[in-house]
This record gives sequence, C-alpha cells and structure tokens, in this order.
Amino acid sequence: MNKGHRHFSGGKLVIASHNPGKVREIAELLSPFGADVVSAAELNLPEPVEDGDTFIKNAEIKALAAASASGFPALADDSGLCVHALGNKPGVYSARWAGDAKDFNMAMKKVEAELEKIAPNNPDRSAHFACALTLAWPDGHRETFEGTVDGTMAWPMRGGKGFGYDPVFVPDGHDITFAEMDPAKKHSMSHRANAFAQLVSACFS
Ligand code: IMP
Repeated sequence: MNKGHRHFSGGKLVIASHNPGKVREIAELLSPFGADVVSAAELNLPEPVEDGDTFIKNAEIKALAAASASGFPALADDSGLCVHALGNKPGVYSARWAGDAKDFNMAMKKVEAELEKIAPNNPDRSAHFACALTLAWPDGHRETFEGTVDGTMAWPMRGGKGFGYDPVFVPDGHDITFAEMDPAKKHSMSHRANAFAQLVSACFS
C-alpha cells in the first residue's frame, strides 16, 4: 500500500462520466484491480456544472458530486489541449470549442486560425495535452493526479485514428500525429496514461 494516499479498498466504483467511450476505457484500465465499476449514467446521477478554471478543479467537481450522490467512491477525469502561444487555450474549453455538434474539424481549424493570426509575432507552435484524474470518497476525501504530454501543433490535420485534437498534435520525439499513431503506442505515452499510472501506484496497488 502506498503511504500518504487513501487506498481504494474494493467494491463499487462509480465512473463519474456520462460518456460511454470514456467509461469503457477507464473500466478496462481498472479491470485488474477488483473494482466493481458502474457509470454515473447507469445510476442516473445528475451531471454537475463544470465551472472550474483548471482541469484539476473540474475533475474534483465531477468526482465529489458523483461520490456524494451515490455513496460510493467515484473517479472522474478532465482533459484538454493547451496551446502555449494562445495562453493555453482551448484548455478546459477543449470540448466546448467543438460546439454542441462535437465538430472537432471546426475546433482544429479555429485553433489554427488563431495561431496564424499571431504567427508574425509569435511563431511558437508548442502545446501540451493535460489530464486530471480525481478519486473521491463520499466523506469528501479526494486524491488527484495530473498527467501531461508535450508536443507541437501540426497543420494540416493528419491521420484517422484517435479522437478530438489528435490529428494536429505531434508528441515530442516523434514525427507523426497522435491520429497517425498506433493506439497502443499513444496509450503508452499519453497524458491520460501518465495520470493513470500515478493513480494506480498511489491508490490501487
Ligand atoms: P472532457 O471530456 O470535458 O474532459 O473534454 C476533453 C476534451 O479534450 C475532449 O473532448 C478532446 O477534445 C480533448 N482531448 C482530451 N484528451 C485528448 C486526446 O487524447 N486526444 C485528443 N483530444 C483530447
């Protein structure tokens, strides 16, 4: 057991997300650790307002709301793309830049247009993805971990794998975008994998 962190002691674990893809991915990652995973949607839990200005605050809002409403420990993640020359935008608004239609082609074009606008004064195309993970308990205790991966914004979009902003992000040390990369390779180096490794080592092993 990892001293200094509260350990998940088995039984039900709520995944504080209404996104079936995210729930499936998290359930797979936690399958070796004896968690009886159930989603916030299956329990009909209300979706809290994500009004934090950091990934950590939003992950904590979601995990604490689900733990307190369900009476079980709950795990939430919040993630996004931070483009350095744009003051880390879209950041916590990464999903919202794609609008209600979840149009990420449009969101990626918007990021590129903003970069081109400032390019004469700032040619910096560096960026990072960030992922905050919070495991919260019904008594309000929480454990939060943040993972990042650094890279460069590519244009035009390249590759058909992955999701979200993957076609415009080239991780450092590589010359292909996340969307051109084998998913297993992406998962070995991503911001989410990094945050999960910290969570598992602190609370699940
Ligand atoms: P959330 O579900 O509110 O945390 O929104 C996260 C958003 O950040 C997603 O909709 C994507 O747009 C973006 N994002 C997070 N992680 C990734 C990734 O690994 N690849 C591409 N886009 C990502």
